[in-house]
Amino acid sequence: MPPKPPSAAELLHLHGRDLAKGDPIAPPITLASMFHLPGLPDGGHFYGRAGGPTWDVLEAALAHLEAAPTLVFPSGMAAITAALLPHLRSGDRVLLPSDGYYVTRRLCHDVLARFGVEVEERTTAAYAEGGFDGFRIVFVESPSNPGLDLSDIAAISAEVRAAGGLTVVDNTTMTPFGQRPLELGADIVVSADTKASGGHSDVLMGHASTRDADLLAEMTRWRTVSGSIPGPFESWLLHRSLETLELRFARMCDSAGIIAERLAAHPAVAALRYPGLASDPAHALARAQMARPGFLIGATFASAEVAERVIDACACLRPATSFGGVHSSAERRARWGDAVPEGFVRFSIGCEPVEELWAALEAALP
Ligand SMILES: *Cc1c(COP(=O)(O)O)cnc(C)c1O
Repeated sequence: MPPKPPSAAELLHLHGRDLAKGDPIAPPITLASMFHLPGLPDGGHFYGRAGGPTWDVLEAALAHLEAAPTLVFPSGMAAITAALLPHLRSGDRVLLPSDGYYVTRRLCHDVLARFGVEVEERTTAAYAEGGFDGFRIVFVESPSNPGLDLSDIAAISAEVRAAGGLTVVDNTTMTPFGQRPLELGADIVVSADTKASGGHSDVLMGHASTRDADLLAEMTRWRTVSGSIPGPFESWLLHRSLETLELRFARMCDSAGIIAERLAAHPAVAALRYPGLASDPAHALARAQMARPGFLIGATFASAEVAERVIDACACLRPATSFGGVHSSAERRARWGDAVPEGFVRFSIGCEPVEELWAALEAALP
């Protein structure tokens, strides 16, 4: 059985429980760089780069979702940088999925490698082959994006810990309602909240969570000295989005399951990946570690032309990179050079009523 998702009811009442009479139910946006600071700087907020009231509300909500102390960052990549850079020294080795998020690989190869960090890659489907001896950080993305292969987070985390390394999991595609990497044994979980957590395609944010006090202290220091900080408005916007995340994610996963089954049975679809389908090669692992199978579907059409025509012809699909919005979107990933067939499309299923969405999609299929 996968670890249980966090309580969505508790999330909705987290902020309200501490209010005084007359306080607004919704948290205010506090725009502040300076804070009233007489005497010694011993406690409370003192400067906007180190913290502020709007972050506090958001970090409390995310800490509830991850069941771990949490730091917010101005993008997913800022969170990933914080989960990697402060924990690495020259000569350390990092393992990355070769089929994972492209920009994480660029960060490691183009930036960290210049400081003497050795970077290695393996495919997600065969991630454990070769073991994890000698790696300071093993970075996991499951499901991988865009191929939707899975790796066994609990088994990898246990092996990495025994070998003296750290496991960092990018949980962007799943959210805490779909998968709980820290419960599965990971040391740090990171997420691009730009995607489903934000969910309305209007904000970039990220977070990193850990139950290890030393790792948390290193990342906190990194954020303060690097200045990799989100603004109060973005923080407020993400907090507002989190209040409907469970609702949106449930609808998106339910719809994705139905759409995936129908696409798999359609003659225009040559191959289909969705971890929720019993026929998917990763289905057994999905059932063991994921609470929900997610909202991303990978479908391969006969050619790039057919794939582009389906995306363009469907009234309920936004042709866009990125994913996780309330509006369904789709993208032919080979246009970015991903190692997928020319006709491979990543669908991100949104919050449209599923029969309306399917009717629009079916009408666009050849
Ligand atoms: C989008 C994404 C990121 C980066 O997030 P940004 O907010 O764009 O910096 C990292 N990992 C995964 C899996 C993503 O999809």
